[in-house]
Amino acid sequence: MIVAIDGPAGAGKSSVARLLARRLGFRYLDTGAMYRALTWLALERGVDLADGAALAALAGASPVSFGDGGAVAIAGSDVTAAIREPRVDEAVSVVARHPGVREVMRQRQRALSHEGDVVIEGRDIGAVVAPDAEVKVWLVADAAVRAQRRHAERSGADAAALATALRDRDERDAVDTHRAQDAVEVDTTALTLDEVVERVAALVEERR
Ligand code: C5P
Repeated sequence: MIVAIDGPAGAGKSSVARLLARRLGFRYLDTGAMYRALTWLALERGVDLADGAALAALAGASPVSFGDGGAVAIAGSDVTAAIREPRVDEAVSVVARHPGVREVMRQRQRALSHEGDVVIEGRDIGAVVAPDAEVKVWLVADAAVRAQRRHAERSGADAAALATALRDRDERDAVDTHRAQDAVEVDTTALTLDEVVERVAALVEERR
């Protein structure tokens, strides 16, 4: 079974998807981490972020791998922590806009999605990557709450700057953010993490 969890940054996708996967005994696939890892590698190697062909070639040559406990690796480096750095936050939505990059990533995501039960989080999973997903959830939350959540994750960061950065990233991501027509919307603004997981788990039980 494929469970697709899509929505904007800070809506709760990662926390919900990770907990849900653990609860169901499914694999967890974080597609944002794939774009982030590629961005980290491009920055390390000084690849021009405007050069879509070079970035697509880099993506093709350097598949992202996921280890136990959520470790993320690319080109022989463990980048689990590095992909959450502000420089990656700032550059990732530039890298992820190149159609050639998306093609490579989506192909890999499709292959990974068909290796057994999985919870996949992203922005285009239910609509584009896995339209055959049995459960599709579209998570939303008020902008202020999304910024607060991001602030809680990034200790020491300036709250106002984070809110602006989140808004800018949403704008740049909008073109590739697609809600599937058959997705169930869950507004997480006033819900606890456990409550959201409970709701999505109930949807999974319905479809099983
Ligand atoms: O989910 P997360 O914030 O880690 O995603 C990082 C970036 O990766 C997003 O801002 C977006 O540019 C890109 N992304 C995407 N499509 C996805 C997942 C992430 O374009 N399915």
